[in-house]
Amino acid sequence: TTAINANTIDALSVHFPLCMRNLHRELRKNSHLKHYGRLQYTLFLKGIGMDLNECIVFWRQAFKLMTEDKFKKEYLYNIRHAYGDVGGDSNRRGRGYTPYSCQKLLTDATASASGQSHGCPYRTFSPENLVALLQATGVSDREVLKGVREDVARQRYHIACNRVFDSTHARELKKVKDGNLWPLSELDTILHPNTYFKRSWQLER
Ligand code: SF4
Repeated sequence: TTAINANTIDALSVHFPLCMRNLHRELRKNSHLKHYGRLQYTLFLKGIGMDLNECIVFWRQAFKLMTEDKFKKEYLYNIRHAYGDVGGDSNRRGRGYTPYSCQKLLTDATASASGQSHGCPYRTFSPENLVALLQATGVSDREVLKGVREDVARQRYHIACNRVFDSTHARELKKVKDGNLWPLSELDTILHPNTYFKRSWQLER
């Protein structure tokens, strides 16, 4: 199986939910990501099992236009902080912060006009931009895109996300269901970006 490290993230990003896929694309496009997106993405990477050292390598390589000095001064601390390696109160130390759930990303993080790209794209993107982003990530089924538009118009954002998951994993899900290969609880509605990743990754294997 693929290890989760700085070198495999590009390949593994096909298993990311749209929120993290969007951050990853923005990061690769600009070799940079603004504060909240960085935090959201760092915690996600931690949640899928990337260790702190690898995460530092990942960000250092991603910010390839930045000097070593600037990276160390302005960015390193926040990564270590998210992992609980430095700072925080004593009960956070060693654990750091918990990766954000869909609920948190849908309620707190409304990416504003300031060019931030955090939050849930099903909520923060206009329907046109959302469909364009989905198409850019390989979702082309017209029925699915229509369903997504209806879901977001009714503010059922995570339903739209689950719809996309189900359609992009239809074949694998059928196999698992027909063969009773997974406990049903493993097929519950996805409510966390890390669950989306884990399920997608496991279905591939
Ligand atoms: Fe990410 Fe959750 Fe939004 Fe899906 S519903 S894109 S997992 S925040």
